[in-house]
Amino acid sequence: MLRPTRLSVQTLAFIAATALTLAACDQKPMAEHTANLFVFGTKVEITVRGKDAATMEIATAQLSEEFARMHKDWHAWKPGELTDLNAAFAAGKSKSVTPFLKPLIIQAQTLYALSDGLFNPAIGGLIGAWGFHADEKPKGGLPDLAAIRALAARKPAMTDVTIDGDTVSSTNASVQLDFGGFAKGVALDRAEQVFKALKIENALINAGGDINTLGDGGDHPWTVGIRHPKSWGLIATLGLKPDEDVYTSGNYERFREIDGVRYAHILNPRTGMPVDHIVSATVIADSGALADGAATALTVAGPQDWHRIALKMGIKYAVLVDDAGTVYLNPAMKARITFDPDLHLKIVESPPL
Ligand code: ADP
Ligand code: MG
Repeated sequence: MLRPTRLSVQTLAFIAATALTLAACDQKPMAEHTANLFVFGTKVEITVRGKDAATMEIATAQLSEEFARMHKDWHAWKPGELTDLNAAFAAGKSKSVTPFLKPLIIQAQTLYALSDGLFNPAIGGLIGAWGFHADEKPKGGLPDLAAIRALAARKPAMTDVTIDGDTVSSTNASVQLDFGGFAKGVALDRAEQVFKALKIENALINAGGDINTLGDGGDHPWTVGIRHPKSWGLIATLGLKPDEDVYTSGNYERFREIDGVRYAHILNPRTGMPVDHIVSATVIADSGALADGAATALTVAGPQDWHRIALKMGIKYAVLVDDAGTVYLNPAMKARITFDPDLHLKIVESPPL
């Protein structure tokens, strides 16, 4: 059993949400079907309740196709529609975009404004400069910090991007779009739409701990766990209300290590430097895109500023875990999350959101 003193940065850093299915034992359970797909290199586990296997097959076939297109057209560094648009920005040119990409840019602008610019998908240049535009964990020494500071000083922002009909341009040539901070949320929101069109009423979609739900779970509510991946033990559980989505962001999964120091793949857009004060932020919202963007923004905001940003973004439930193992949360989140009592986590409750 983990003791609080042994909860290192690394162990807490591995916190991620995972789906639990708790079987009701006093009645015949609803038919349940599961399938696995991939989006953006992450496994997506789909659970559908109360529908036949044939409908499930239609849904997964359609989603598999759509996820593949997202992976290609929204990729931040492999050639596709987004890299073409970024090349146009760098050259000071405008470009027409497909109806597949345009809504994503608009959503990114909304989340940028809501988060006071802490969620900033225009900083693709900085993310690339840190070596995160690669499938493998980046190796080697520190990147050129003077170049990174210079790039951050050019202030790439979503407000630099203008959309006129289908034509998109940027007034700032340093803008490079990277939707890695919320594309998973958009993809899972789309999965919900596909399910709804097929009259599926109860579904849970789990992409590596980022979860969308549809419906109330049918015969038993959706319950998710905040897990400790090293021991596979849970540190907390959370029952979800109908249609809620829960996303976690942090430096537990993707980082680079230079001389024993970990550099997170989430950057503070104002400095261009990786965030170092927070291990993870978990947010519940009623859209995956908002929850995903907010989880990233709260990770950047950190213990000092997360409450202000959550308020501004309209988030009702958030929990952060810092590198000392302290948990920060709002009262409404505290009322519904159950921590493992054996962990004796230090809990800091904020004013209501
Ligand atoms: P995870 O992939 O662990 O779920 P996030 O949802 O926070 O984490 O996404 C992290 C990704 O978001 C990074 O790999 C990068 O592509 C992008 N990113 C990094 N910093 C920011 C930021 N400040 N605003 C928006 N996107 C960011
Ligand atoms: Mg995110």
